[in-house]
Formats: sequence, C-alpha cells, structure tokens
Amino acid sequence: MSGVELYIEDEAAMLQLGQALAEQTAGHGILFLQGDLGAGKTTLSRGIIRGLGHTGPVKSPTFTLVEPYEINKHRVWHFDLYRLTDPEELEYLGIRDYFADDDLCLIEWPQQGKGYLPQADIEISIKAHNDGRFVQLLPFSTRGKSWCAALSA
Ligand code: ADP
Ligand code: MG
Repeated sequence: MSGVELYIEDEAAMLQLGQALAEQTAGHGILFLQGDLGAGKTTLSRGIIRGLGHTGPVKSPTFTLVEPYEINKHRVWHFDLYRLTDPEELEYLGIRDYFADDDLCLIEWPQQGKGYLPQADIEISIKAHNDGRFVQLLPFSTRGKSWCAALSA
C-alpha cells in the first residue's frame, strides 16, 4: 500500500476524514500535516481530536506551539510549528518527551522542525482545488500503511 489521495469537498467532509483517521490511529502515532495557510490542517486536526471523543473547542496552536488534550485514556499533542524561528528551539521545549509514550502527535508545519522530529507514521498534504481540497496521505510505517489501506477502501 502506497499513498492515498482523496478529494474532500467541504469542511464537514474534512471533519469526517478526521473522524476516520482518529478511528484508525486509535489515539497513537505521529501525523505530519502539510499545506499552505488556510489549507485545512487545523480543521483536519479538529476532526481527529473530536473523533477521539473531545467535545470542547480545538483552537489553532499557532501562538502556543502546542496544545495538549486529555481524552478518555488518550493524550493528544497538537503542534503548530509555523512560528518556530529555529528547529533547535524544539530541543529546549523537550520535544523528545512528547514522543516517548506513543501518544497521538499532530504536527502542522513539520518542515519547520526538520532534524528534530521523528519519522511520521503518515504525512498528510492538503491542497486547495476548486471549492474543496485534495488530501494526500503518504505512509512511512507499517501502521501508517494499514491506515492508508483502510481509508482508501
Ligand atoms: P490551516 O490550519 O491549514 O491554516 P484551517 O484549518 O485553519 O487551515 O482553515 C481552513 C479553512 O478552509 C477553514 O475556513 C475551513 O472551513 C476551510 N476548509 C477546510 N477543509 C475544507 C474543505 N475540504 N473544503 C473546503 N474548505 C475547507
Ligand atoms: Mg493551522
């Protein structure tokens, strides 16, 4: 199984894709979210976090760098590295600790942390197309491959 590309026509469908991803990951793994400002990275993250059972707001972590969630027995760390000026800053944030327990890590703008982030299970790239979005999912691990296979079925 290699990558999957889906056309996601609106915000509601994006949230649904997040729900499907939440079910696949079962709250574990590393997901990179790539795409321009306004592509839909935070929207998809919101779908994933809600899909795990979170009922409150999911705001963009642009200024905080990371927003933590405790959902039932799961922990989710939602990163937005857009404002990181140097990937080395992640070292001072204790970035390694976030990946230690196989929690779910959603990382917007991962290219900003290049060299300081582990390999993702999947890299998700979102591109505007007409009124919707093309969402490409590329797996980099065994479980990432099985998530992609399930989403393309
Ligand atoms: P990013 O985090 O990539 O900067 P956001 O998720 O904050 O982007 O914003 C994306 C915007 O695009 C929101 O206004 C959202 O309603 C809209 N959007 C999200 N997914 C879709 C989609 N599949 N089709 C059309 N519009 C979408
Ligand atoms: Mg965002």
